[in-house]
Amino acid sequence: MIPICKHCQESKVNRPRGLCWSCYYTPGVKEMYPSTSKYARRGVGNFTGNAPVAPRPTTHAPGTPEKMAVLEERAKNKQALWHPFDAQYDGDPRPLRYLAREQRVNEQEMAMAG
Ligand SMILES: [Zn+2]
Repeated sequence: MIPICKHCQESKVNRPRGLCWSCYYTPGVKEMYPSTSKYARRGVGNFTGNAPVAPRPTTHAPGTPEKMAVLEERAKNKQALWHPFDAQYDGDPRPLRYLAREQRVNEQEMAMAG
């Protein structure tokens, strides 16, 4: 018997927590189901899993093919799928601000190094 997604009851399960791919990556859905994964966030807004957070946030909105590719890449690199500055919607300025700040820090470090 093929397990069916707990959320949509339609698609075949191919992600953790008994969810299908699209439900798992739909914002808010996986939070509704208990985690069976070591990558889970425990506690509100407090990442204490074993996986390191990816070095940079993504500017791609949730649900886009580009975001899916980013999540796949993070999973492959054994990084946390979630990043605190990931775009929450199309045009979210938070990841851009984060990247701009990171760039400024790099430039300062280079300036200090001479
Ligand atoms: Zn589903």
